[in-house]
Amino acid sequence: MTKDEIIHHLAHTPLTQLLQQADQVRKKEVGDEVHIRGIIEFSNYCCRSCLYCGLRKENKNISRYRMSPEEIVQLALDIARQGVKTIVLQSGDDFAYSAQTIATIIEQIKQKADVAITLSLGERNFKDFELWKKVGADRYLMKHETADPNLYARLHPGKTLTERLKAISVLKTLNYEIGLGCIVGLPGQTLDTLAEDILLIKQFEADMAGIGPFIPQKDTPLKDHPPGDLELTLKVLSLVRITNQTIHLPVTTALATLDPEQGQLLALGAGANVIMPNFTPQRYEKNYNIYNNKAKVTLALTKNLIKRAGRKSGQGKGGSLKCKKLPKD
Ligand code: SF4
Repeated sequence: MTKDEIIHHLAHTPLTQLLQQADQVRKKEVGDEVHIRGIIEFSNYCCRSCLYCGLRKENKNISRYRMSPEEIVQLALDIARQGVKTIVLQSGDDFAYSAQTIATIIEQIKQKADVAITLSLGERNFKDFELWKKVGADRYLMKHETADPNLYARLHPGKTLTERLKAISVLKTLNYEIGLGCIVGLPGQTLDTLAEDILLIKQFEADMAGIGPFIPQKDTPLKDHPPGDLELTLKVLSLVRITNQTIHLPVTTALATLDPEQGQLLALGAGANVIMPNFTPQRYEKNYNIYNNKAKVTLALTKNLIKRAGRKSGQGKGGSLKCKKLPKD
C-alpha cells in the first residue's frame, strides 16, 4: 500500500470496511489465538522528559518506586505458574539498574521458568542490549512513538527520531524480535504522519506493534490536549494488520482506558491478537501513571475478554510469526 492509499483509507474508508478486512487478514494469517503477555512495571523512575508521560523526570507529583531484583524474579515465576508464557519487564529509562543487574534477573527467570522474556527498558547502549540477548532475552519493545522527526524532537526534549531508529536497528541486528508502535492523537500529528508510522512499521519488518491513542496525564505539559480519537486509532490498527499480515498486535491498555466498555473488544476485531495483563503489585502499579485513569487489565479479565470475543487463549510463547506458515486447520 502506498502512502497516498493509506492516507485515503484513513480519511475516507468507512471504519467497518477496514475492520472487516483486518479481521479477515488476522484470521487467515495468525489464527484465532490471542497471546497473553504478563507485564511487570518494575520501576517508574525515568531520566527522560517526554511531554506526554507522567513518568517524566520533572513530575514531582508521583511517588517513585523501584522493585528489587528478587521481587521481580519472584513475581515473574509466579506469573509463569499461572500459565503465562511471556513475561514483559518494563520500566522508565532507569539507569539505576545496571546492565548486569538486568542480566541476572533475566538469567534467573529463564533458569526456573519456560517463558519468553520481552524487555521494554528504553534506549541503552549496544553492549547492554547484547548482554541481555546473550543471557536469554527474546524480544524488545521500543515504540517509535511518531515517525515525524520534528514532532518527535518536540515531544522528546534532547532526543531525536534518528537515535530511536538506530537503537531499534541495533536490536534487530542482535536478533531480538522487535516491537515498534505509535501514539494516535498527538498534537500536530496529521494523517500524513500516521501513514508514515504505518510504513515505518512495515519498513522495519517489526514483529510486534503497539498502537494506542494519546491519553493526557494531569501533571504533564500536554495535560489539556484532548485524547486521541477511537475511530482513528482503530483505523490505524486495522491498516497495520492489513499491511503487516503476520505481525503481533496488542490490545493496548490506552485503548482500554479510552473506552473501558468496548475498546478492547473493538481492538480484537481490528486485527489485534495479543493482550498484556498487568501483574505489577497494586502498591506500585497505582504510581505507574503514565496517563490519567490507566485501565487495570488483569489475567481474569483478559481470559474473559478472549472468550467474549469468540477467540482462544494462545498456548505457546507466541513468538514471531514472520515467515512462518500456520498449520492447516
Ligand atoms: S515515555 Fe518512557 S522514556 Fe518517556 S518519560 Fe515516559 S517512561 Fe520515560
